[in-house]
Amino acid sequence: MEGKVALVTGSTSGIGLGIAKELLKNGCEVILTGSRSKENATAAINEAKASGSVVHYIQCDLSSKVDTLCNEVDKIYPGGIDILVNNAGINFVKYIDEYPVEKWNELIAINLTAPFLLIRHCLPKMRNKRWGRIINISSVQGTISAPGKAPYATSKHGIIGLTKGVALEVAAQGITVNAISPAWVDTPLVQVQFEKYARENNISVDKTKEIFLEKSQPTKQMIDTAQLGQLVVFLCSYGGASMTGSVLTMDGGYTAQ
Ligand code: NAD
Repeated sequence: MEGKVALVTGSTSGIGLGIAKELLKNGCEVILTGSRSKENATAAINEAKASGSVVHYIQCDLSSKVDTLCNEVDKIYPGGIDILVNNAGINFVKYIDEYPVEKWNELIAINLTAPFLLIRHCLPKMRNKRWGRIINISSVQGTISAPGKAPYATSKHGIIGLTKGVALEVAAQGITVNAISPAWVDTPLVQVQFEKYARENNISVDKTKEIFLEKSQPTKQMIDTAQLGQLVVFLCSYGGASMTGSVLTMDGGYTAQ
């Protein structure tokens, strides 16, 4: 993968940073993105730099400024990128009657519209190279759902539809498009959910994690971001070249039950 350029959205923490680090270890040049300023993303940038040599950072609010990200990427790599990982995402848990419309709009914009716009932007240059890898991060919520998670599940089901449709459109052009569906991964996104549950039930966050893993994740282990990163690396390798339009679950047995 030496010389390949990857754009990983939402890579200042959690899964995105884990994926970026594995791509860097395998010789890729990586553009990290996040909503934080470069100063506030310094720790993540340094962590990524410890895994590889060429790391860029672009700050961008994907709820409204995808164009800005596209322009900045074009300035750094006029020939385009090779690997697009649509990872940035938010979650907001509330029953549908009380779900603020503004939150729905923001969630759909970040989790679904931004990947659509980024794919449209990146495809023409991938076609020129007759090589491209697009990996969309869905969730087990792309297959099932849970009370309070209808909007999140809508976005994660939606990105699977986007994955399959685009995969078919570009299948003969050297470009693969796949989705990855993780269950519980220990990141700031789920930490917020665990903290809320812990507060409401007057228990510790560690106990909360234990309860959630016990009831839903048969391995009883949180998924490691490096494991997701290595799956992305596989999809970009020769071994993954015939996989397209697929949804790969990495869920500790969550959806096998
Ligand atoms: P995280 O909160 O650690 O990271 C989210 C990233 O998205 C950050 O880099 C943040 O800067 C970026 N981001 C958020 N809002 C943004 C905005 N408006 N503009 C630009 N960037 C923005 O979350 P994570 O758990 O690593 O989640 C990454 C992806 O994995 C998400 O799509 C999430 O839905 C999905 N996912 C997570 C889990 C899990 O258990 N953590 C499980 C399944 C799927």
